[in-house]
Amino acid sequence: MSVRIDEVSSILRQQLERYQVEIDVDNVGTVIEVADGVALVHGLGDAMAGELLQFSTGVYGIAFNLETDAVGAVILGHFADIKSGDEVRTTGQIVEVPAGEEMLGRVVNSLGMPIDGEGGIETDQNRPIEIKAPGVIYRQSVNTPLQTGWKAIDAMIPIGRGQRELIIGDRQTGKTALVLDTIINQKDSDVICVYVAVGQKASTVASVVDTLKRHGAMDHTIVVSATASQPAPQLYIAPYTGCAIGEHFMYEHNRDVLVIYDDLTKHAWAYREMSLLMRRPPGREAFPGDIFYLHSRLLERAAKLSDDMGAGSLTALPIVETHGGDISAYIPTNLISITDGQIFLEADLFHAGVRPAVDVGRSVSRVGSAAQVPAMKRVAGRLRLDLSQYRELEAFAQFGSDLDRATQARLARGERVTEVLKQGEREPAAVEDQVLSIYMAVNGWLDEIPVEKVQAYVDAFIQHVYDNRAEILDSLREEWKITDALAAELDAALEAFGEEDDGVQRGAQSAS
Ligand code: ATP
Ligand code: MG
Repeated sequence: MSVRIDEVSSILRQQLERYQVEIDVDNVGTVIEVADGVALVHGLGDAMAGELLQFSTGVYGIAFNLETDAVGAVILGHFADIKSGDEVRTTGQIVEVPAGEEMLGRVVNSLGMPIDGEGGIETDQNRPIEIKAPGVIYRQSVNTPLQTGWKAIDAMIPIGRGQRELIIGDRQTGKTALVLDTIINQKDSDVICVYVAVGQKASTVASVVDTLKRHGAMDHTIVVSATASQPAPQLYIAPYTGCAIGEHFMYEHNRDVLVIYDDLTKHAWAYREMSLLMRRPPGREAFPGDIFYLHSRLLERAAKLSDDMGAGSLTALPIVETHGGDISAYIPTNLISITDGQIFLEADLFHAGVRPAVDVGRSVSRVGSAAQVPAMKRVAGRLRLDLSQYRELEAFAQFGSDLDRATQARLARGERVTEVLKQGEREPAAVEDQVLSIYMAVNGWLDEIPVEKVQAYVDAFIQHVYDNRAEILDSLREEWKITDALAAELDAALEAFGEEDDGVQRGAQSAS
């Protein structure tokens, strides 16, 4: 019996097709167990860690835990309909989210889908939520400041574009206030902001969005929200989603981006919950052993790219909560070691009315000063000194009376410097105003002003400069330096202003 050549090829083709099917079988698994948004899947031998999986109900999941004979998957979305015996397929992809300018002004969930009721988002781009952080040859050191608008921070703990600065403090110490003011302060800069809300109440997120809108700051901002009522996997991926949305602008448009993670404490909790559901061995504080890696691979993606890469940047401001000011807990210490410094907000200061409650002694920025403008650098050095001397002497001051003149002078200076650094919410200060006010404080121009009048006096002088001495602002803005000539000009203006104001201020002092 002879077999024609085309028959042979058709048999071969059939066999190949069947072979294909057999391979496919390998990529289909079966749900063994499902509960609380996680599923144990048997038979996905090829699944990669972090790979996107599709359940037969259409819902997606992520291969989270690879074991020898099963894969632990987290379910992204509605999991009530998934039951044991269901099919699960690998997709060969990792989770992607939409990205692009169209997302600006919008509030999205942790899959990048709009949740603000303002219609769909038409983007033609997607980005994987996890990518490898750029290596050192694709980076350069930070060289441009990211102004928060808070004097205490921009002067003493400056942040550079591309830096990772941790914001740490107890509950209700102004952590969110700081990042919101920073976003609002970018209104006139070219920085795009992504605010990632993890594990907050939906009402809190709504009020954040409302605040940003009222201050005209939503136009350059994207909010990614995974609220406390959502399943842990949504909270777990939200920061990666926010980072990916930000990265689009850094890599594709060479823009400067600021990404805020508010907060990573709740992110860590979500991860712990998932890990315990997967029966991973718990470690310190019941967190799984790879929790450090979880946060480091997120924060490593912050960068100031090299000129060859387009010189864009991604600044990361993760927030972490402490209890009783204890920064030695597991997650805070991890984050302190991953970031380039921390801004410590202190509950006692906050309650004593020193707001923002920045604890200067325990806060540090390891790279940001390289990006600080020279004028700020000049006034800030003196500021730190005045403040630290004040803190040292403060304890003695309580004994009152027999303090020598020099000590009294230092205390008086410290009180005024502290006063100048106080700032309400939603009042970010322009760099010019910051330099002027700190200049006044550290050069003794406020020493004679009663403490309770310091803020009004500073505001009045700054207003006076804007109204009548615009040339001072012009020369300051020229190179952002306080040249000797400018210092002389400023001193003359302050002298004249003081004399004019003398009647009012000193009069008030003796009256009080
Ligand atoms: P949580 O831990 O609950 O997230 P938080 O540390 O983010 O709190 P915020 O919500 O920013 O703290 O602030 C706590 C309260 O203090 C808010 O009511 C806020 O309006 C107020 N507040 C924050 N900063 C200042 C400030 N500089 N001046 C006056 N009030 C402030
Ligand atoms: Mg907060």
